[in-house]
Amino acid sequence: MGGYFSDIFNGSKSLLIGMGITFREFFKPIVTVQYPYQTIKMSARFRGHIELIADEEGKPKCVSCGMCERACPSGCITLGSVSVEIEVDGKMKKKKVLSKYDLDFTKCSLCGQCVENCNFGAIEFSKEYNLASSNKEDFHFNLLKRLEERNV
Ligand code: SF4
Ligand code: SF4
Repeated sequence: MGGYFSDIFNGSKSLLIGMGITFREFFKPIVTVQYPYQTIKMSARFRGHIELIADEEGKPKCVSCGMCERACPSGCITLGSVSVEIEVDGKMKKKKVLSKYDLDFTKCSLCGQCVENCNFGAIEFSKEYNLASSNKEDFHFNLLKRLEERNV
């Protein structure tokens, strides 16, 4: 019989404690968002897939040195470049221009080696966290095209 009443007492006590927490939280500011209708701003240190950075003219800062491609332990990055002639101080000089920057995000571990090894500050981690697909191809990014689309 004693166990019966102590169960009722313990049950009521835990119910009141729970209701007390609910009541307290009811008056606190809301910290959740109505995903996917609302999205949140990611912290500065968040790592999404890498993205090319543009210069003042909207062109890629990347000079096609290939350091990021070589530094990537997972072989996610495929670069391409073309040689073009430009005029510098009245003389024609050859310059390498980025023609392709593909990222296979299915293999990326977000280790950061590519970003750390770029001496030109030409790539950064995006704040993209909203990626979901059952198709692997959706995680193969043409970063040059993405940069162009961002500049439109
Ligand atoms: S290391 Fe930087 S500059 Fe060199 S290819 Fe990669 S992104 Fe471009
Ligand atoms: S974060 Fe690491 S794994 Fe991902 S592309 Fe850069 S170097 Fe490769």
